[in-house]
Amino acid sequence: MKPKQAVISMLSAVIVAGIWGMPAAAHINGMEEILQNTKVSESESTFYMDDTVNNNGLYKMDSNYRFVPVNDTASARKVLLTFDDGPKDRAVLEKLLGVLEKHSAKAIFFVNGIHVEKHPELLRLIDRSGQTVGNHTWSHPDLRKLPPEEAAREIQYVQDIVSKIIGKKPRFFRPPYGSGNEQVRRIAKNHALLYMTWSNGSLDWAESARNNPAAVIRNVMSQLHPGANILMHEVPWTADALDSLLSNLEAQGYGFIDPAAIIVPAGSAK
Ligand SMILES: [Zn+2]
Repeated sequence: MKPKQAVISMLSAVIVAGIWGMPAAAHINGMEEILQNTKVSESESTFYMDDTVNNNGLYKMDSNYRFVPVNDTASARKVLLTFDDGPKDRAVLEKLLGVLEKHSAKAIFFVNGIHVEKHPELLRLIDRSGQTVGNHTWSHPDLRKLPPEEAAREIQYVQDIVSKIIGKKPRFFRPPYGSGNEQVRRIAKNHALLYMTWSNGSLDWAESARNNPAAVIRNVMSQLHPGANILMHEVPWTADALDSLLSNLEAQGYGFIDPAAIIVPAGSAK
């Protein structure tokens, strides 16, 4: 067994307890996300992004949406930070961006077109701050319930408006509620987007975390694992939690994955 295979095999042996595997969607302030059952098995640990180009990335995403270093130069003890459902509130966003800068951390902001249309200046702010913009659909629908053409528009329009405002097309896609299917994956791939849900839900959308930064920190830390894909939202209590959260992660020896170091699907973005 080669060293790299050994690492992958070891990671695949890590079983995540199904504590977040609740089946139903919770509807809280429109920020709800369906919590997915996190299934990890040996057979699922193989990478499915066979047709990617190696764009000198240091991390590959596996089929459980976790990140694994492609060689010895990158540390496995890193996490990806993501913030969904913005940009909509300058004060909250500025706080998130300020804390990220303080910790020299990079993140993906998965934006909705409806918010971008209203706040193009906030999208520019994310970009100017050196952070990465991801596509989270135009209007935050459950894509599985839409006809294919409509689902395609939900994704295409965000590529278009983001490109128009900051001059770059997103390379990362996250379906609202983590709800997708093969068709949605195909649309994303056609746009050279890396499709992901998450592997560590902060539950910051839930009533139990509302106005409760300590709960956000607890939720993330209790699910922590190497290569974690951490789902958070642009909400005040997450902004309040972020400085302590990042300090806690650093204290456990974790760093933050720069989205630019993630290998994304091949193909010229449309
Ligand atoms: Zn969302």
